[in-house]
Amino acid sequence: MLTRRDFLAGSTSVLAGAALGQQPAKKTLVAITLDLEMSRNFPTWDATHWDYEKGNLNDETKKYTAEAARRVKAHGGVIHFFAVGRVFEQANVDWLREIVQAGHPVGNHTYDHVNVRAQLPEEIQFRFNRSPWLIEGKSPAEVIRENVRVCSAAMKMRLGIDPAGFRTPGGFSDGLRDRPDVQAMLQGLGYTWISSLYPAHLVGDPGKEPDANVLDSIVAAQKKAQPFRYPKGLVEVPMSPISDIGAFRGGRWKLDWFLKAVRLALDSVIATGGVFDFLGHPSCLYVVDPEFRTIDMICDIVKKAGDQAALTDLGAIAKHPTA
Ligand SMILES: [Zn+2]
Repeated sequence: MLTRRDFLAGSTSVLAGAALGQQPAKKTLVAITLDLEMSRNFPTWDATHWDYEKGNLNDETKKYTAEAARRVKAHGGVIHFFAVGRVFEQANVDWLREIVQAGHPVGNHTYDHVNVRAQLPEEIQFRFNRSPWLIEGKSPAEVIRENVRVCSAAMKMRLGIDPAGFRTPGGFSDGLRDRPDVQAMLQGLGYTWISSLYPAHLVGDPGKEPDANVLDSIVAAQKKAQPFRYPKGLVEVPMSPISDIGAFRGGRWKLDWFLKAVRLALDSVIATGGVFDFLGHPSCLYVVDPEFRTIDMICDIVKKAGDQAALTDLGAIAKHPTA
């Protein structure tokens, strides 16, 4: 005999779907990813010196990072971090070692936050424009490969771990589809998956509340932010718009506008099944969202979605690219 509990459980999943003639949506995998680097224009708009010292994290950024990790873990998830190698030049990395010990993965974000698509020396990174002797005699491709390699070496020496995947500094609307040479370089360094694609979408005029056009464009971009495999086997796990930098630097948005856009985007992915890869930067979020509202909201949405969504990391997502 069916108990009331059995009946209710059945009625809300299989039976309800069958009655409506619909397939239940695939479980949505949700990753919260934070890039550990300092961000131009934060904490104050005129701050640009970080361009030359991306890894010189300030205390506020480190505190925010640790508390964000604690909150997501309390919800049964992890944060997937990507660190620039210069973080490991700081005297003390105990705060990051504790985060790793709590089970949060840390991936490679290059040593100096270099543009992996650069083909001219001046396109690589600000630091090398000011101090060109650091890369003298090397081709951009050699500089970039070495910059990825030494980030892992630093991580190994300071944290005792290998990187959990690779994320390109900056996102590219088509990922690395047109750069098989860069894909091959990363595969040669041992990476099986990367995160480089950030689909194009509207942001609206700076300082203006996003209208329906902008929000629709962000929701529509979720379809282009689904994981896939490049022809030579490397897996891409894109970033899901809108990022904090896109909203607060690009759009000069207010926090409530950002929360609304992220909520609409995540809800739309949960409704259809797929992957959502939130991209944030503690160096920006501590300024614009000091109460962790974005991260708490994502955790709450996933919790309320029950069996339809789960918090995970990019490594787990990369095991099952959809295409
Ligand atoms: Zn970055």
